[in-house]
Amino acid sequence: MRLKLITALALIAALSAMAQPARPKLVVGLVVDQMRWDYLYNYQWGEGGFKTLLQDGYLFNNTIIDYVPTVTAAGHASIYSGTTPAFHGIAGNNFMLHGKNVTSVQDDSERGIGGNDKTRGKSPRNLITTTIGDQLQLATDFKSRTVGIALKDRAAILPAGHHPVGAYWYDSNSHSFVTSTYYRDKLPRWVSDFNKRHRNELAMDMNNTPMGTTMTFAMAEQALINEQLGQDEVTDLLAISVSNTDMCSHYYGTHSPKVDSIYWQLDREIAHFIQVLDQRVGRDNYLLFLSADHGGTHSYPRMTAHGLPSGCWYNPDALIAANKQLQDQFGVKQLLSEEMEYTFYLNHEAIDSARLDYDQVMRAACRALEQPEEIQWAIDVSRIDTYPIPSILKERIKLGYFPERSGEIYVVPRTGVYASKVEWAASNHGSWSQSDSHIPLIFMGWHVTPGETSRLTHMTDIAATVCAMLHIQAPNGCIGTPILE
Ligand SMILES: [Zn+2]
Repeated sequence: MRLKLITALALIAALSAMAQPARPKLVVGLVVDQMRWDYLYNYQWGEGGFKTLLQDGYLFNNTIIDYVPTVTAAGHASIYSGTTPAFHGIAGNNFMLHGKNVTSVQDDSERGIGGNDKTRGKSPRNLITTTIGDQLQLATDFKSRTVGIALKDRAAILPAGHHPVGAYWYDSNSHSFVTSTYYRDKLPRWVSDFNKRHRNELAMDMNNTPMGTTMTFAMAEQALINEQLGQDEVTDLLAISVSNTDMCSHYYGTHSPKVDSIYWQLDREIAHFIQVLDQRVGRDNYLLFLSADHGGTHSYPRMTAHGLPSGCWYNPDALIAANKQLQDQFGVKQLLSEEMEYTFYLNHEAIDSARLDYDQVMRAACRALEQPEEIQWAIDVSRIDTYPIPSILKERIKLGYFPERSGEIYVVPRTGVYASKVEWAASNHGSWSQSDSHIPLIFMGWHVTPGETSRLTHMTDIAATVCAMLHIQAPNGCIGTPILE
């Protein structure tokens, strides 16, 4: 009897070992903020960085973001959840929540941990679908460990999902990496040590110098070591996002010497980090992907200096001008309350208290917003199917639209026109156009054979692919397709 029981137990153990699918020890997600696809071919300076990704990785050369607005919070949420704002709820970097203008990760029910008294509480609670990290947890009985690292809060918090061991971002008030009570009540020793050790570097301009890139990877390396990621048979996830590539480009423009120097450093940091991963985890034991949350449009001065079509539309001015026209017509101030991510919000309180006809105000607001020649369409999203706009654009607006969080009117500038003042050298993004929606995508490492394709793939395919390779269920809102070339 006893022998039978032991045999049965041995059989169960053997079966469960067999049932355990092969998985890498670590998944590394590397998102480079505002990295256009063509940058892959601009910025291969040294050995071991972008060059190694291109040589040893599988390249998807035609990966598109199929929603608007193409902005940071939506991009990071979509990469890791395999779905779009219509489902995951991250409608922009900012949106309306219960009538209040909030950032994507703002959470006033939490407090900042580390930093100083200006360090705010944040969480992933506005993200209403699961992520790759969440699915890994479910598949491993919550033994998997996820860490998110970035300079930007949203770029660390959203990729890390709802139940990571940690998410750390740079707090410019205190010049240090911080977290919030959503995750823990005290900074881990290794994070406070890191802040102390790099006090001088962290006090530098993180946004517009290569030091921001260096500190991001130095933190990621510490997370890898101290959280023991990729050190056992349970798959872990390290989500790294490089933010200063975006912040610097917003200020100095694409291909400015400052942006070039950040990419030069990024190429070096990637080379070093691949070396660290190869040594600590082993190339055959980690699956790395590189992508971007969105691309970037070249600045107006850069385009027009060479006779190329471009244009500027400055959204705060557009809101003021449209409100003035509506006031002339209806005698009520500020009938449009906000503008965020190319959407405009009608002021329901003002409409109701002046007893105006909602449909009449909506039609007048769309007409007013459409007046500048830079604007092609101003769309009442609830009636989008009645507009004579191409179905590809309709689909992207619908996939990016979350009722109540997004504004009721979606504005489409003419192609090439972007949100900026004419005199600014800044680049920007947010539109459906190639410059903003065409992103790099490379997989490298575990079970990846080098190669490339130019067939159409989507940002939402990234999470679908990672989960399919790992034989875990895709995130609950995932609409992407595994691309297993
Ligand atoms: Zn971004």
